Amino acid sequence: MKQNYNFCAGPSMIPNVVLKQVQEELLNWNNSGRSVMELSHRSPEFASIAESSENTLRELMSIPDNYHVLYCHGGGSGQFSAIPLNLIEKSQSADYVVSGHWSELAAAEASKYCHVNVIDIRHNVEGKDALLSANDWQLSDNASYLFVCPNETISGLEIHDLPQTDKPIIADMSSSILSRPLDVAKYGVIYAGAQKNIGPAGLTLVIVRDDLLDKVKRTVPAIFDYKTLVEKSSMVNTPPTFAWYIAGLVFNWLKNIGGIEVIYNTNLEKAKLLYEAIDQSSLFINNVHSDNRSIMNVVFNLENKEITHQFIERADNAGFYALKGHQSVGGIRASIYNAMPLAGVQSLVQFMKDFEKNMGTQ
Ligand SMILES: *Cc1c(COP(=O)(O)O)cnc(C)c1O
Repeated sequence: MKQNYNFCAGPSMIPNVVLKQVQEELLNWNNSGRSVMELSHRSPEFASIAESSENTLRELMSIPDNYHVLYCHGGGSGQFSAIPLNLIEKSQSADYVVSGHWSELAAAEASKYCHVNVIDIRHNVEGKDALLSANDWQLSDNASYLFVCPNETISGLEIHDLPQTDKPIIADMSSSILSRPLDVAKYGVIYAGAQKNIGPAGLTLVIVRDDLLDKVKRTVPAIFDYKTLVEKSSMVNTPPTFAWYIAGLVFNWLKNIGGIEVIYNTNLEKAKLLYEAIDQSSLFINNVHSDNRSIMNVVFNLENKEITHQFIERADNAGFYALKGHQSVGGIRASIYNAMPLAGVQSLVQFMKDFEKNMGTQ
């Protein structure tokens, strides 16, 4: 089979070795005589899968003991509501740093449940899209927490710093978790939908500091209630067991290739290669300031819609899938999460060069 590369923003690529292992184990997991899909979430077999998944994640991210790891439903979007519901009363306020589409949505959803102070950090530096550095964020005294989205998946902008604050920092890391080294202790809550850097859709990972449980008296739906989820080991109801299992295999894969430092270096190399190819070409344009360029989602444009369409179609035919930009912005987006090998980006860069050279020909 010819090697194809999937640049989809999510659900996205899963490492080949993991998919092969899933295939091998699909009908009969670990001599249980059943597929993982058929195992009770209360069975000792699934308990061992759940435990090993959490242990590997804790090791990979060096998660301190005073943090809980929850395996939830509802996606990143579910957490837009779960965060305010779990952390503050309706009369209280929270600061929302808005750096793009997802943080904007998170702020809008939170405003149903509390007061939201929007801190819009998008600005323009010499014609480039950029984000204000953390020193320049106008934080409010009355905020109970600070929300950030370190990587904006649609516009391809990344925040690299955090302000000095004693308030809990809540981070939507749906498209950046496990992509670079991280000090978990700097955050109150980290969450991520699984379908970008963890595994299949349907699972949402929440990492929450112990002292933030049980903060409010308000009504919280049981499946979103962090305290209940902790007490029930994320099994308030039937969790997405198959996604949970595959997430564990992805964590193992990451550990086996050397962990986060190693994948971070590869991620940097991939991003550098692609941005350099764009900057050196006279056809492709990326308008993100170098300080804020995402290493996970590389967004770029061609001079007009017709050529863009042609590029995406030819790329697709050549096995470079899902390069179409998000419907709200158009253009091209190459999502190069952990599972995208360096060879995938090298091949894409070569394809882009060939496309540019053959422009105007059939
Ligand atoms: C994809 C994404 C979401 C939405 O995730 P769902 O699981 O589809 O709800 C939220 N935040 C960020 C940063 C994302 O990239």
